[in-house]
Amino acid sequence: MNISERAAVAAESEERAHQQPGDGATRDLRPTREVVWQPQLNAAETRWRDLAAQLSATCFAPLAAEIDASQRYPLETVQRLRDSGIASMVLPARHGGGGASLVAYCAVVEEIAQTCASTSGIVATIQLGAAPLLLMRDEALKSELLRGLIERGEAISFALSERHAGSDPASMQTLATPEDGGWRIRGEKCWIGGGGAAHWYVVFAQTEAGAGKHGIAAFLVDAKAPGVDDSQLEDKMGMRGTRTATIELDTWVAQARMLAPPGEGLRMAFGSLDVGRIGVAAQACGMALAAFRLAVEYAAKRRTFGQLLIDHQALGFNLADLAARLSAARALTYEAARAHDNGRDVSVLAAQAKLIASETSHDVIDAALQIFGGAGYVKPNPVERLYRDQRVTEIYEGTSEIQRLLIARAIRAQATGESA
Ligand SMILES: Cc1cc2nc3c(=O)[nH]c(=O)nc-3n(C[C@H](O)[C@H](O)[C@H](O)COP(=O)(O)OP(=O)(O)OC[C@H]3O[C@@H](n4cnc5c(N)ncnc54)[C@H](O)[C@@H]3O)c2cc1C
Repeated sequence: MNISERAAVAAESEERAHQQPGDGATRDLRPTREVVWQPQLNAAETRWRDLAAQLSATCFAPLAAEIDASQRYPLETVQRLRDSGIASMVLPARHGGGGASLVAYCAVVEEIAQTCASTSGIVATIQLGAAPLLLMRDEALKSELLRGLIERGEAISFALSERHAGSDPASMQTLATPEDGGWRIRGEKCWIGGGGAAHWYVVFAQTEAGAGKHGIAAFLVDAKAPGVDDSQLEDKMGMRGTRTATIELDTWVAQARMLAPPGEGLRMAFGSLDVGRIGVAAQACGMALAAFRLAVEYAAKRRTFGQLLIDHQALGFNLADLAARLSAARALTYEAARAHDNGRDVSVLAAQAKLIASETSHDVIDAALQIFGGAGYVKPNPVERLYRDQRVTEIYEGTSEIQRLLIARAIRAQATGESA
């Protein structure tokens, strides 16, 4: 979409956003008939959501089955995300970004996940890669790096996990040792989203063997630097239009590319994940909404034993439970995003939103597949793809167990007065 088309979409949605219910007519006092809770978006948030809906319908949905089947990383989609401004929507306007709220970001991710979960994964990877830069203390370096991202369309990937240190990153083995006024980084990062297509990696590394979280620093590593090998790609069950790679490192990084000093790296990683988890929750809600809608449509036309499926009470009650749980998951997700936009510490709320949304999404999609019966188990039914795509929302950016651990620690801290 070119700039004038974007402006037209924006103007149209702006106009819609300013219309009040009942403008020019009697106020509509009918009770709402929405079966799943809807977020209240302001004009700017509505504009972003509408832009995502338009791109989803015209560009992302038509590619969804193909990139899943061929496990192709769609570079044309990445370009569209950049051209439309979605790739940099949450970056501050003073650095050239879109200055969008996290609520707007959730609306965009949720919208895209409804048609192509892989594309929503690409958006989430872009957001997570840039998140550490937003937490940097050095304002001049932050500004320089963010401008590079926005003006040159550079992509950053977030490289925290290792083969033996996923849930427990403090036990990471990647080591950074001082060398020639900079740092030599040796190690291996695993399952890195956007790996192999990124220009930069934010690499978290231990600066003192055995120091645990007190020694971890963060570095910005050039993907093309000597000693960086990001060619080994994963073959995944779902989200097959995203790219996930192992990053082998034996490379030198200048001191000026240290984003967080020793002892502050994990704080930067966890701060980035707090925001990322709300995005994963929105992604999970988007997938669940799509599956729910498809299942309801099917149940309203498929007959067994002389009745529509939807008229079998067991099935109707099941749909009722799913709609209620999906409403709750969505409301919590948007509440967490709004709390972040209002400057609150959202680490516990983000963990709760991700936990509830991803597990609700699991159950909704599983039930949707069941409602389709045999037709749900075979391609090209989109529910078959959603079933595979959804699963990772319970794993990446912290598994469900790790979200429970974080929440339990916060409960204990509150009860005992000891820090979490
Ligand atoms: C498609 C994909 C994309 C990813 N993208 C990225 C990325 O961009 N950047 C990045 O850094 N990482 C990424 N990851 C890695 C991901 O974050 C980790 O896989 C995840 O954090 C889990 O770590 P692990 O796989 O090592 O599991 P482990 O930590 O080995 O855990 C194994 C199991 O044990 C459970 N478990 C562990 N500890 C506890 C405990 N204390 N109590 C109860 N249960 C526990 C876990 O919940 C899990 O079920 C990605 C992974 C995938 C699959």
